[in-house]
Amino acid sequence: MNDCLFCKIVNKEIPAKVAYEDEEILGFYDISPQAPVHIVFIPKKHIESLDQLKTSDTDLIGKLHFNIAETARNLKINQAGYRVVNNTGENGGQTVFHIHFHLLADRKLKWPPG
Ligand code: 5GP
Ligand code: ZN
Repeated sequence: MNDCLFCKIVNKEIPAKVAYEDEEILGFYDISPQAPVHIVFIPKKHIESLDQLKTSDTDLIGKLHFNIAETARNLKINQAGYRVVNNTGENGGQTVFHIHFHLLADRKLKWPPG
């Protein structure tokens, strides 16, 4: 049985506000936004983390990044700029173990992150 929160969002068992969707990729608004625009992009296929990525998944994750850029252009946040973040494992701050990439925008982001 799959108890993964993000798989449940993919299967529409848990509602989410969708920003981007195609056959392989879903982008939805984060429930606890850390910037005025905060969208989480995931492959619909369950992959636990970047650490678990296989060579056969690299096209999928490359395409996901293209979809992030496309969404940023559609939302007109590309010119001001944005940040894409992946948290991997405990020290990386990962809390949901279905690989995901945060798109953060519409405010000046600090560097380095905490
Ligand atoms: P992580 O900390 O693993 O990098 O990111 C997980 C993200 O998922 C967090 O930013 C958190 O706010 C978000 N999140 C957790 N549960 C839900 C939910 O039920 N719905 C949505 N839309 N986002 C969620
Ligand atoms: Zn999952």
